[in-house]
Amino acid sequence: MPTIPQATSNPAVELEETGCLLCGSRNATTFVEAADPIARSGQGRYTVVRCHACGLCFTNPRPTPESIAAVYPSEYGPHQDRDARSSHSQRRGRWSRWMAAIRGRRQIAWHGGGRLLDFGCGAGSFLRRMHEEGWQVTGLDASSAVVERIRNQMGLCAFAGSLPHPELLPQSFDVITMWQALEHVHRPLDVLRAARQLLAPCGRLVIAVPNLESRAFRRFGPDWFGLDLPRHLIHFTPSTLRRMVEQAGFRVENIRTMSHASWLQGSAKRAVESGRAGILVRLLQFRPFCRLAAWSHLVSGSADAIVVTARF
Ligand SMILES: [Zn+2]
Repeated sequence: MPTIPQATSNPAVELEETGCLLCGSRNATTFVEAADPIARSGQGRYTVVRCHACGLCFTNPRPTPESIAAVYPSEYGPHQDRDARSSHSQRRGRWSRWMAAIRGRRQIAWHGGGRLLDFGCGAGSFLRRMHEEGWQVTGLDASSAVVERIRNQMGLCAFAGSLPHPELLPQSFDVITMWQALEHVHRPLDVLRAARQLLAPCGRLVIAVPNLESRAFRRFGPDWFGLDLPRHLIHFTPSTLRRMVEQAGFRVENIRTMSHASWLQGSAKRAVESGRAGILVRLLQFRPFCRLAAWSHLVSGSADAIVVTARF
């Protein structure tokens, strides 16, 4: 893979060119360009290209696997334990955990005891909720720091790394979840094929990723929260996610969209900072308006995340 000159002010980040991560074609053109929204200085700009052959959008050039850790700041949101941070009081803590439990049930419609692997488990909030629901949980994350915290502070099983992983045995999980994780990996088909090997017969895979065909992306463009360049390497639509899952050997059971008011609010704040916000976008900085918009996007079927359930 050729290494191209740095396009970022972060000297620890090395960039590489890539072919399409779904079909291998090298024929792609620029789809959108955007800055790293959390770069501390210099704000490197990155490009998302669209494959002419299959339509997959991906970040190109992208940080190499060896250097991508440098674009994740120590305070990166998904690596923080939100449930722990939000427990300002016993009462609020109980309320948050109750709401989180309800969200967990909505995310996994079937439940009861079972073996669950959460790929890209971040700080482990979801793992802890599922453990409390009776699941036998295992976490996997690229960050060894968050894995250590999950092991030492939560007492749960977690491994550092990606898929395939030498510690995980074939057919050893009933459910594998990938919440906002697949868009971060360099070799998504290898990850999905490894997940297929790990699932027991009748096991299920659940994937959630940002939706490039969302009304939010159409409104915010380069300011959309779901782009998160250069940490997001792949930018799925419902059709490209379906094709990738099927190419890895799965059969899609269900595909739907899911709304995040906080993503709309974050996008609106970025649009205001970049000087691209009209009056409607300015209103979306405020909680009641972004909640209303998130609900309308969900009802229209083009909310800002895609959720797929698949089996083989
Ligand atoms: Zn392609």
